[in-house]
Amino acid sequence: MAITELRGMDRVIVPIKLEPGTKFIFQCGPGVPCFKLCCSALYLPLTPYDILRLRNHLGLSTDEFLLQYTEPFILPRSGLPVARLKMQDNEEKTCPFLSEEGCKVYEVRPLACRYYPLGLGIFRNRDEGRNEDFYYLVKEGFCQGLDSGPEITVEEYRQSQGIPETEEPVKEWAEIVMKKESLGPIEVPEKSLQLFFMVSTNPERFRRFVFESKFLEIFEVDQETQDRIREDDLALLQFGFRWLKSVLFGEDLIKRRKEVPKHKKMKPA
Ligand code: SF4
Ligand code: SF4
Repeated sequence: MAITELRGMDRVIVPIKLEPGTKFIFQCGPGVPCFKLCCSALYLPLTPYDILRLRNHLGLSTDEFLLQYTEPFILPRSGLPVARLKMQDNEEKTCPFLSEEGCKVYEVRPLACRYYPLGLGIFRNRDEGRNEDFYYLVKEGFCQGLDSGPEITVEEYRQSQGIPETEEPVKEWAEIVMKKESLGPIEVPEKSLQLFFMVSTNPERFRRFVFESKFLEIFEVDQETQDRIREDDLALLQFGFRWLKSVLFGEDLIKRRKEVPKHKKMKPA
């Protein structure tokens, strides 16, 4: 049976909120009979940090990486545009990084691959004004690793998969997506969606936008920050996420210069 037929059978999100200390039973690796079945026919959105790491690992420019390995995708609940991995044009729609031996980019595999079969949710605690993470299990008919291995806590699993260090740099980005989801179907100007897509997918383009457009005439960015984001992709991403909060939600995190009228136009580079 083709993997594409196997996938989609019995996909169940177990409606139980898991805490970091919750135990579940799971094992995975080249020895399991379903090895690699989960690496096909995926809707696999990439975080901005996934893109950065994969691009660096493959020695490509961001433009080359995006063109070769991704396609645009609208996140269903937030309506925000991101890049997702483009599956291969074969019968099984395999991931472009899947080989006979397994994942060819295992050290820099995307955050979603690290999490599977767990999922991450973010709950907004309005009373306390903060976000709380929670986890859940995704059960798919073809995955034989669930309920057949040793017990492991959610946090032990996260550590074993290198999730904290892959997730931390995109915490603010995930908050943006979650906030947009929680606002429901409000209309966002096309221009703002384009800016979100640029920051989320292409740091080189965003850097040109900051330094080669009227950006610095419109927004106050101190010299130290400018020096950092000129050189450091991660710092540029963090800066970009704070700026997106201003663009999408009017949060005044990157201040406008007082003398510049709000309607001053900027075009993405
Ligand atoms: S990136 Fe690696 S782990 Fe993720 S789907 Fe592709 S082959 Fe599988
Ligand atoms: S056990 Fe599940 S996660 Fe591991 S290879 Fe099999 S299908 Fe994929």
